Amino acid sequence: MPIARARAIDSPTGSFHPAEITRREPGPTEIVFENKFAGICHSDIHTVRQEWGPIKYPIVPGHELAGIVTQVGSAVDKYKVGDRVGVGCYIDSCGHCELCAGGQEQFCEEAIYTYNDTGRDGLPTVGGYSTLFTVEAGYALRIPDSIPLDAAAPLLCAGITTYAPLKKWGAAPGKRVAIVGMGGLGHMGVQISAAMGAETAVISQTRSKEADGRRFGATEYYALSEPGTLKKLRKSFDLIVSTVSAELDLDAMIGCLKVGGALVNVGLPEHASTVRLPNLVGGNRILAGSQLAGVAETQEMLDFCGEHGLAAQVEVISADEIDAAYDKVVSSQVRYRYVIDTSTI
Ligand SMILES: [Zn+2]
Ligand SMILES: [Zn+2]
Repeated sequence: MPIARARAIDSPTGSFHPAEITRREPGPTEIVFENKFAGICHSDIHTVRQEWGPIKYPIVPGHELAGIVTQVGSAVDKYKVGDRVGVGCYIDSCGHCELCAGGQEQFCEEAIYTYNDTGRDGLPTVGGYSTLFTVEAGYALRIPDSIPLDAAAPLLCAGITTYAPLKKWGAAPGKRVAIVGMGGLGHMGVQISAAMGAETAVISQTRSKEADGRRFGATEYYALSEPGTLKKLRKSFDLIVSTVSAELDLDAMIGCLKVGGALVNVGLPEHASTVRLPNLVGGNRILAGSQLAGVAETQEMLDFCGEHGLAAQVEVISADEIDAAYDKVVSSQVRYRYVIDTSTI
């Protein structure tokens, strides 16, 4: 059995420590890859700290993996040893329900998440803060050669989370799109929206990230800390993608939509939100949500990023820095994604 090194944590207030884990030998339809980099997603922190409910410890989080194939099962023809692959938030699903058949495996009732879940073998799934990973070949993604592996890892969650709503809701030339929040998700959203040809604006809390926002492709930048910002933006956008988990003034945000425009939420605020429905009714506006995407669309996103030269802006850290990195993610100090160099695990 392949033995991997990992970083695990034993309680919501604990620290990460080295651990040894065992990965499955690949079944006929599985591959094993050497995981080179693991992105730190804000969801890892919410999960580990039990902010989304109780979990089982110890836990090895991580659902932004990028590495190199080292073993392939006998029936795998999609990958060969040496291929560059990634794994995102889920590693399996039933493969035949309406959702799987329709390319929305992420919502399959039997979807298996990369960590904090139970695999088909009945064992807990062990995430990406580790040096090896065994996965069904059909749930691994091919990373284009033009994207460095460290900058590719965050695409598996942050990239697809923003690509899917931008595509579904029509970011394109002639459309005006606003990305709310410019953290791990938002900095990918800005790049992808601009690459899709939309006139792209950032709506952030302050102007501290303005130069970066413009470098990522935004042509406009607005700060919520400046009074009257949303009032000035009334009826401005065809599409607004909100990436923030903080409470938003949804009514004011909806007011920034043109007639028929859509506000799509990909952040997960902890508390219930209120909306004045007349704000939607008057103007045929849409309030929607979006979570991840299926395998095929995730591959499409990676290929799109490869073709357009897009990648995450990352700060590569060693495994000993995970605890400190968590605190910096929570206090919005990261620019824009921490990625663990797994050779330091
Ligand atoms: Zn994530
Ligand atoms: Zn299914």
